[in-house]
Amino acid sequence: MKRLTEFQKKIRVKRKEKKAILRAFNKKVRDELVFKKQELVRLMFERDKGECVFCHTKVSEKHFQTCHIIPQEFIELRYDINNVLLACFYHHKVGKYSMHKHPLWLVNWLITNRKEQYDYLMNWLSKSQHNL
Ligand SMILES: [Zn+2]
Repeated sequence: MKRLTEFQKKIRVKRKEKKAILRAFNKKVRDELVFKKQELVRLMFERDKGECVFCHTKVSEKHFQTCHIIPQEFIELRYDINNVLLACFYHHKVGKYSMHKHPLWLVNWLITNRKEQYDYLMNWLSKSQHNL
């Protein structure tokens, strides 16, 4: 077996140190995202009283849906309480009247029932690089 030079040994140690730093950084970022999501869910349950905002059915904390009005791919709004609603599975995804299947119904519902939230998001859209 070939012996490592002192230089090669130093390089290996540095690589291990860099990997450890990166692992720690990734864990910190992951932990922060988990915390942000938990905080968002807590605020959403509190604001929406643990019920689907559309049909007022109690939503289990184990089987809830975090329903984003503007898709969560828009990172700036992913953890924004003004961009989410608590809804049952029917009103979130599969129902005839659901956020995913009937966006115009959702817009009308927002204007009628959550005007401040609607205005906040429209204001964000008009000021962001993602404007209409
Ligand atoms: Zn519902």
